[in-house]
Amino acid sequence: MNIANLLVRTAQSHAGQPALAHGTETVATYREFANKAASLGAGLMQQYGLQKGDRVALIMKNHPEYWISLFAVWHAGLTAVPVNAKLHISEFTYILENSGAKLAIATPELAKELTEGQDLAPVLSISDANYADLKNAAPIPMVDMAPDDLAWLFYTSGTTGKPKGAMLSHRNLLCAILSYFADVSSHEPGDCIIHAAPQTHGSGLYGLPLIAKGGIQVTPLSGGFEPAETLELIAHHKNCCFFFAPTMVHRLIGAEEFKSADTSNIKLIVYGGGPMYEADIRKALDAIGPKFCQIYGQGEAPMTITVLTQHELATGGDHPNRSERLASVGVERTDVEVCIRREDGTPCDLDEIGEITVRGDVVMLGYWQNEEATNNTLKDGWLWTGDMGAKDQDGFITLKDRSKDLIISGGTNIYPREIEEVLLTHPDVAEVSVIGRHHADWGEEVIAFVVPNGDVPSIETLDAHCLEHMARFKRPKEYFIRESLPKNNYGKVLKTELRKEFEN
Ligand code: AMP
Repeated sequence: MNIANLLVRTAQSHAGQPALAHGTETVATYREFANKAASLGAGLMQQYGLQKGDRVALIMKNHPEYWISLFAVWHAGLTAVPVNAKLHISEFTYILENSGAKLAIATPELAKELTEGQDLAPVLSISDANYADLKNAAPIPMVDMAPDDLAWLFYTSGTTGKPKGAMLSHRNLLCAILSYFADVSSHEPGDCIIHAAPQTHGSGLYGLPLIAKGGIQVTPLSGGFEPAETLELIAHHKNCCFFFAPTMVHRLIGAEEFKSADTSNIKLIVYGGGPMYEADIRKALDAIGPKFCQIYGQGEAPMTITVLTQHELATGGDHPNRSERLASVGVERTDVEVCIRREDGTPCDLDEIGEITVRGDVVMLGYWQNEEATNNTLKDGWLWTGDMGAKDQDGFITLKDRSKDLIISGGTNIYPREIEEVLLTHPDVAEVSVIGRHHADWGEEVIAFVVPNGDVPSIETLDAHCLEHMARFKRPKEYFIRESLPKNNYGKVLKTELRKEFEN
């Protein structure tokens, strides 16, 4: 089914319910949202001569119009290419060219940049009078889509190399939504999701289940994550949900305004997309209560591969493996199979580390026009995620690292995350990243980049802390104290940048 059906149905059953809010103000009910999407879809097809399946890039800062554009695109049988607004013009151009987009819909500043910076695709700004006119065009009925038709080209965040377009079908998205209801949460009309993270990425995907159930998409006026503003929105809206990168959870709790904030309106914070260290989730549970749920997935298998459920996080306190479970990414989702494999493809034993592979209806169709990458990633129906992990006897999966981040020293595998977990329990360490550096005798040796938490810790203290908590050979041989770590636009640490410092 066309995923736009979610909106059409909710607009029938809950026409008058608020659907879109900008800050604290409702800007569209479900009736208005659905009507505008159906009209805009018709207008786009006519004015730009688009055909079913054509790609339309959505290069937008968080804004309520994103939702109208996205559903207009789907309603008209087009393929959405949501693009992170923080990318550079050269990256926008790359994605426009690679996807063959026939149109880019953009927020005003980005529309100006795109109009001046490229001529691959026409640009439609959401502040243009033309855009407003198109939203009043005579609506078309929703275009019928087959399950495997393309709905979304999800460009990977590209911590290495050029981003690739993961092809997500209508079936992929529908399955992702159903599995959200199976494993993450249920929703009622009036629940809301506050998009403090980019709508073009995880946060936007997590908005879809709320559209199916008559919830509200709240876009902050700032368009992003300002802890003080987020806390004000929490005070205003009821049953607030979020999709947060782990670093955002950390920042929210650390904000000055958090100390006096009333967070009782929070219903659920889904976190994922990067490692949540045990020390940080313990702090978060203490500060906000049992309102967290962790997911692990990737653009190639969205919403997602595993879940550490709210129930587990809330009630697992007495379990003897509590620490391991908090540091894990939980268990496989209802709709997927996860197999951890050795390099030769054979399944690993319990607790043996290998590459996480996954099979199920959330797995992408392949990479857009990139057969080589598709063949390297999808083998015999299994998605090879590039993430290393191990499954324990209770089915809990612990992520070690990306396979490329693994450090091999003297023939022994060392997983940076283990060392990062330990260093983060030191009170003077705010952030840390561990990588391997070439060593003539050992192949690689472990080094650590540390961002201090106020006082700069001495190297001796850090070394003593490591010696107390890990095998001697794993501890970093050198420390680099930094004010910050290089991160990509989703807040993921760019280990590639750190490694570059040591390339000859
Ligand atoms: P993206 O496709 O941009 O969403 O990035 C996906 C990658 O982020 C995965 O392949 C993992 O390496 C990482 N990731 C996602 N979720 C988690 C998580 N819960 N814990 C640790 N890393 C994660």
